Formats: sequence, C-alpha cells, structure tokens
Amino acid sequence: PAHSKHSHKRRRVGIMGGTFDPIHNGHLVAASEVASVYDLDEVIFVPTGRPVFKLSKKVTNAEDRYLMTVIATASNPKFTVSRVDIDRPGVTYTVDTLRDIHKLRPDCDLYFITGADALAEIMRWKDANQMWDLAHFVAVSRPGYSSDLQELSLPQQAVDMIEIPALAISSTDVRKRAAEGMPVWYLVPDGVVQYINKYGLYSSM
Ligand code: ATP
Ligand code: MG
Repeated sequence: PAHSKHSHKRRRVGIMGGTFDPIHNGHLVAASEVASVYDLDEVIFVPTGRPVFKLSKKVTNAEDRYLMTVIATASNPKFTVSRVDIDRPGVTYTVDTLRDIHKLRPDCDLYFITGADALAEIMRWKDANQMWDLAHFVAVSRPGYSSDLQELSLPQQAVDMIEIPALAISSTDVRKRAAEGMPVWYLVPDGVVQYINKYGLYSSM
C-alpha cells in the first residue's frame, strides 16, 4: 500500500568501512551523501581490525577507534556501528566484512561505501572477485585522489562513482595536528575532539 513507504522494497544498507583513527567529517559526509543518493535505510560503520594495507603502520587500539565511531555517529538515527571486524581475529579483509554483515542482514541489499583511494587497495586483496555478488560498490570522490575508475579495470556495473562535497580531511592529518597541538575542531565531531583530549590520543607521535 502507498501509505507504507518501505513495504515494497528490500531494506538498503550501506557499509562504511574504515580504520577511523580517528573518524572525521569526511567519513560522515560520505556516508550521509550515499545514504541520500541511494535512499539507504541504514549505514553501518565498521571499524577495521588490522587493515591489511596498514600492517606496517601503528594503529590506535580498536576499542578507542570503535568508541570514537560510536560517539561520532550516535546522533544520526540511520547510522549504526558494527564490531564484526574488530572482533574477528587477524587481519581484516573486506570480503569477510561483507560476508559477516550479509549474515546479520540477510534480506538486505548491501552498498559498500569507499573512497576512490581505498577502492584501489581493496581490489588487490583476498577474494576480490567474490565481493561483487555480496554488495554494490559506491566509490565517492575524495580531494587529492584520482576518481578514474577505468584504471582499476573493474567489472562493468559493479561500482558506481559519485561526486560528494569535497572535504580535504584525512585521519593522518588529524593525528598530525593533534600531535602538534594544532586544533582539530570542526574536522572531527566535537565529542571526538573531547575523546582525543581526554585520553591523550596522538599526543606522542
Ligand atoms: P588515514 O589517513 O589514516 O588513511 P583516512 O582519512 O584515509 O585515514 P580511512 O579510515 O583510511 O580514513 O578511510 C575510510 C574510508 O573513508 C576510505 O574508503 C576512504 O577512502 C574514505 N575517506 C576518508 N576520508 C575521506 C574524505 N575526506 N572524503 C571522501 N572519502 C574519504
Ligand atoms: Mg586512508
């Protein structure tokens, strides 16, 4: 019936994976914009365990990254956070994330949200060609990175590229600013600024 807006379509669920060390407004704008364009019912933020392409780098412990992600997303009714990647032992592969979320949301259409830069990394790893059956991929534009999907030689139709409001923010830059005593207000949500200060994250880098 027309009065029941969602009765005729499958639930659409976005998955926003990331290290979130820390989560910043670029991540939130990306998720919000894809949710709007694709009429998503929910976006699940999934902080990684050990990201396979960051094995040589020092990453803040998973509980701090998880809690900052919860703080940053708490006020948005469509945003949720999943522990699947941080609770799975070992290195995080996107294909495992998709399989786990598929089990949790069996009757939903999944949309994996990624920046153009991260998409290139994901495709180099485990079972990349099985990911297309599990989710639709949405690559968002990111300042400083090429948005040319042709270079990646991906299957036709598997990935959409969308232009989103440009926020030239990276977690790397936020960490560096925090370490140097520079302000990170308005780059990350207020609660995340306060969490960083409260626990002295990134102060000794
Ligand atoms: P780091 O500098 O530590 O790599 P990051 O800012 O790239 O951090 P990630 O946690 O690595 O953040 O990214 C998670 C996802 O969000 C990736 O798909 C990435 O491409 C995307 N992303 C991050 N920042 C932006 C941004 N400013 N605009 C659009 N997409 C972004
Ligand atoms: Mg990154």
